[in-house]
Amino acid sequence: MKIVILGPPGAGKGTYASRLTKILGIPHISTGDMVRDEIRRQTDLGRKIKEYSDKGELVPDEIIIKLLAERLKRDDCKRGFILDGFPRTIGQAEALDRISGVDLVINLNVPDNVIIARLSNRLICSKCGAIYNALTLKPKKEGICDRCGGKLYRREDDRPEVIKERLRVYRRETEPLIEYYAKRGLLKNVSCNDIMTPPEVMVEKIIKVIREAERERNL
Ligand code: ADP
Ligand code: ZN
Repeated sequence: MKIVILGPPGAGKGTYASRLTKILGIPHISTGDMVRDEIRRQTDLGRKIKEYSDKGELVPDEIIIKLLAERLKRDDCKRGFILDGFPRTIGQAEALDRISGVDLVINLNVPDNVIIARLSNRLICSKCGAIYNALTLKPKKEGICDRCGGKLYRREDDRPEVIKERLRVYRRETEPLIEYYAKRGLLKNVSCNDIMTPPEVMVEKIIKVIREAERERNL
């Protein structure tokens, strides 16, 4: 199944997608991770996109669409994928329709206070990319990844001023996609109103919605 997870920054897209990938056996594709990877490896492209990412702005459509199109060509995407962080503009959604199509869009509804609390406490593993939270999803040992022992860090764009800008960009550029996919009958909503809701509970809700779509539309 070709799944898109939609939602504001900090909605939990990456946290849930990284768990869903194991349950569903299809790859988790995060354009945010791809962008950070290019920056870390200091490729030509990485140097070009760092300035956007650091400011909380979107990388230009033509760059990100090309990156994603390359990724979707790989063999592991044949049976479907979970897209996290793409599409983020109507232009990207139209490109995705051309490249591969979409079977289901899961829209995560999360209030602003939860988003801000999540992002300002988010910790990422520098080795494996696992996501933790200093408030709600603490690692067993402070500053160290449970899974691989890597060092945890805070993302450059998780600073309060940048969080505000990312939310503004989300409302302006990405929120219109809810309507875009609802009109096509592809959208399902999943809500998280409480910051303490554990990821497993959310993942269960999402799986339910996926099974529902499979039954309704014979996917
Ligand atoms: P968030 O936690 O805000 O959802 P991501 O990890 O998905 O952030 O992305 C981090 C940054 O990478 C974004 O702020 C943006 O600069 C860039 N980026 C990721 N995906 C896209 C995309 N589909 N279009 C444009 N820029 C993107
Ligand atoms: Zn790790």
